Amino acid sequence: MSKSNDELFKQVTSHAKEYGFVFQSSEIYDGLSAVYDYGQLGAELKNNLKTYWWKSMVQLHENIVGIDSAIFMHPKVWKASGHVDGFNDPMIDNKDSKKRYRADQLIEDKITRYQKDGKTAKAEELQNELDAALSSDNLAALKDIIEKHEIVCPVSGTRNWTDVRQFNLMFSTRMGAMAEGSDEVYLRPETAQGIFVNFLNVQKSGRMKIPFGIAQIGKAFRNEVIARQFIMRMREFEQMEMQFFVKPGTEMQWYTYWKEARLKWHIAMGIPAAKYRYHDHAKLAHYANAAVDIEFEFPFGFKEVEGIHSRTDFDLTQHQELSGKKLQYFDTETNQSYVPYVIETSIGLDRLFLLTLCTAYEEQDLSNDEKQDSRTVLHLHPALAPVKAAIFPLTKKDGLPEKAREIMNRLKFDFSLQYDEKDSIGKRYRRQDAIGTPCCITVDHQTLEDNTVTIRHRDSMEQERVAIADLEKLVGDMVSWKNLLL
Ligand code: ATP
Repeated sequence: MSKSNDELFKQVTSHAKEYGFVFQSSEIYDGLSAVYDYGQLGAELKNNLKTYWWKSMVQLHENIVGIDSAIFMHPKVWKASGHVDGFNDPMIDNKDSKKRYRADQLIEDKITRYQKDGKTAKAEELQNELDAALSSDNLAALKDIIEKHEIVCPVSGTRNWTDVRQFNLMFSTRMGAMAEGSDEVYLRPETAQGIFVNFLNVQKSGRMKIPFGIAQIGKAFRNEVIARQFIMRMREFEQMEMQFFVKPGTEMQWYTYWKEARLKWHIAMGIPAAKYRYHDHAKLAHYANAAVDIEFEFPFGFKEVEGIHSRTDFDLTQHQELSGKKLQYFDTETNQSYVPYVIETSIGLDRLFLLTLCTAYEEQDLSNDEKQDSRTVLHLHPALAPVKAAIFPLTKKDGLPEKAREIMNRLKFDFSLQYDEKDSIGKRYRRQDAIGTPCCITVDHQTLEDNTVTIRHRDSMEQERVAIADLEKLVGDMVSWKNLLL
């Protein structure tokens, strides 16, 4: 991370805490590693990001429906999916610092460093070596690469490494009143399996015709070897996944479709296209015949935000075998049954949250010849902003608070609002800018005479006089989901 990016990331994380977006879990007990809580504004922003995804995937697609499956599933689900045997990360320990790392990530960090130093050929060579080692599951080769490229522990600075070992990422617990004799169950490491096991339930009860999709938003749990970079890699996180069931043979066409559609969805939030790139997987997961990541340029480099995977018929076939139940689709046109193929889109909600904050955050210099001035502003899309409008009485007297409350009571059913009467109007504007509120409405003495208010816009800082009667439409148009979804 360059100094300015490093600085930006620090500013964003401390801003997130200061304004009630994200807190460390159990902070009063010194925190729980890689677990975070969303605060009062974070919860609103997160809900809005979920709504954006849900509306675009479910509400706007007649052939996609949403479900909400349980976190606990029958243990055999994870045997069938391959997670019990194969959901591992290669880990390595530094004997001096006693710190544990993911071997592939240590190498990726070195690639990023080569790139930053302009050593493109070296970066390419290392990427090829990493891809080859990962695709052949060669742990010894990963260790060789770490030694050959003289990768040091970021904490101790030494190259005193253990061998590379595999580490299963699933959390388990016991179900039932007594620990003894009860069954071991897992906290789901992905939401996708809840969709696969409900494939026939949804298809039959919803009379769904292929191609169709099932979407779901929910918590997932992974005992990550190392967790870092704030909410980027957590042990408890949230996924938004959609499995799209297609006729075998058409999967590549749908893979291309979703690959493009998902990137467009990201860019529609107003984020520059240059901030994104595709990264094709060199090593395909056991279930996939094509896979790509959508990566975003975080202050610490390009990292995965979303994966699009062509999962073949792997999961449904596995569940058929282990459950002994048929999971097939009957095609009424051809009078044939088949196990559908699946294209998956899987996005991490917390990473989306982080990229949204990083992109929105700006320290703006507003100085002019007369005075020094600055503000911190979150340029969030109005539909995503946690607070849609703030309502201020100019002063605390002369009936202005009552009038402001009256407006608030009219608008609060449709919009999340904040009322503020403390400090100067300028200070109140700054507080709202810092949390990304798209507009502030000020009630002054003129309001009492002609029922108009001043509305001040966050990004342009321009003000206009509008009738109270028009506020509902004005704010409604500004924060409408249509602006994002059309
Ligand atoms: P990575 O390579 O970064 O570990 P992954 O390839 O294992 O991610 P997937 O299994 O494809 O991730 O999960 C889909 C999405 O879930 C990812 O694109 C990411 O946004 C999110 N995700 C995965 N693991 C985590 C985590 N530990 N914390 C937060 N989000 C995560």
